Amino acid sequence: MSSSHYIIPIFVPHRGCPHDCIFCNQKKITGQLDEATASHVKNTIERYLQTISRKDAVIEAAFYGGSFTAIPIAAQKELLGAAYPYIAENRIQAIRVSTRPDCISHEILDNLRQYGVSIVELGVQSMDEKVLSLSSRGHTAEDVKAAVKLLQAYGFTVGVQVMTGLPGDTPEKSLATAKALIELNPQIARIYPALVIRNTYLETLYHRSEYQPPSLESAVETAKVLLAAFEKSGVRVIRIGLQPTDNIVPGKDVVAGPFHPAMRQLVESRIYRDMLDYLIEKQPSPKNITVRVNPKSLSDVIGQKKCNLSFLTKKFFIDTFKVCPDNGVEAGTILLIIGEKCISLSRKDYYTSIAI
Ligand code: SF4
Repeated sequence: MSSSHYIIPIFVPHRGCPHDCIFCNQKKITGQLDEATASHVKNTIERYLQTISRKDAVIEAAFYGGSFTAIPIAAQKELLGAAYPYIAENRIQAIRVSTRPDCISHEILDNLRQYGVSIVELGVQSMDEKVLSLSSRGHTAEDVKAAVKLLQAYGFTVGVQVMTGLPGDTPEKSLATAKALIELNPQIARIYPALVIRNTYLETLYHRSEYQPPSLESAVETAKVLLAAFEKSGVRVIRIGLQPTDNIVPGKDVVAGPFHPAMRQLVESRIYRDMLDYLIEKQPSPKNITVRVNPKSLSDVIGQKKCNLSFLTKKFFIDTFKVCPDNGVEAGTILLIIGEKCISLSRKDYYTSIAI
C-alpha cells in the first residue's frame, strides 16, 4: 500500500512580520486572529494526529501565514520546540515553514535545522523589481537569489510562492518571474493569482480605481503558462489559488479579483484543452473523436460544465466527441482516437513541443 501524505496546518498570522505588503492581511487570510503559542502548536498537532490512523502515513507540520523567520528567534524556538518532540519520536516526519526571502541568515537556518525543519517556502511573489516595489514587499530579487542559495547550501527543500496580477505585473512579467525562479532550482512552487482582500491597501487602490485585478480568464491563462513552465523544469506545483475558507470567498473578505474555489482544476483543465487543441488541429477535418484518459484526469479533460468539449466541438466543427476513462492510460496522458488513428500525447511531450 502506498503511503499517504498529511499536512497539519499551524497558522502564524502576521506574527512578527515587519512589513505590510499591499495585498496582505494575514489575519484575514488565515482566519485566525490569536497569536500562535507553544500550546496551540501542541494542541493542533495532537488534534490532527488523532484523526490519522494509517501506520504508513507521512505527516508534516506546516507553519503557514506570517513570516516565520521574521519572528524573534526566542519565539521561533518556542513554536518549533513544541513541534520538535513529534519529529524526534517519529510521530511526524517533517516540519515546514514559510517566510520572506530577506529573513534568511546562517543564524536562522542553524536554528531551523536544529529543530528538524526540512522544508522552507519563500514568499517571492515576483522577481520584477517594479512589481516588488509597487507591492511594498521590502525585498529585492537579489534577496530571493541569496536566500535560495543559502537554503540549498543547508540542504533544505526549497519552495517558492509566486503571485500573479499584482500592480505593475503582466503575464509576461509573471512568466519571467517563473523562469528566473526555475534557474534557481527550487523543488516546489505555489501560484497565487492576486486577490483584493478586505482591509488591505490593495483594496484602497481598487476603490480609487488605481488597481484593476485581472479577470478570472486571464488569471487562468497566466497560471496555466506558469504551471507548464514549472512542470517542464521538474518543479512540483503544490497549489494554485488561495484556499477558500469561511471568509475567503467573494462577498466576504474577497472584495475583487480572480477567485475560484477550484482554481487548480480550472488551470489543469485548460492545459488538457490546449493539448487536445494541439492534436486535433493537425488532423484533416476530424468529425468523430474519442479521447481515452486515466480516470484521475477525466473531469479535468472534460472541464467544468463540459467546457472543454463545447469549446473544441465548436472550434473544429466536430460531430461526436467522447471522453472515456481508461485505467491503461497513464495519468497526464491523452489518447486521441479518430477512425483507425490513435495518437498519444503526454504532458511532458506536449511541453517539449510548445514554446514556453
Ligand atoms: S511579508 Fe508576508 S506576512 Fe508580511 S505583510 Fe507581506 S505577505 Fe503579509
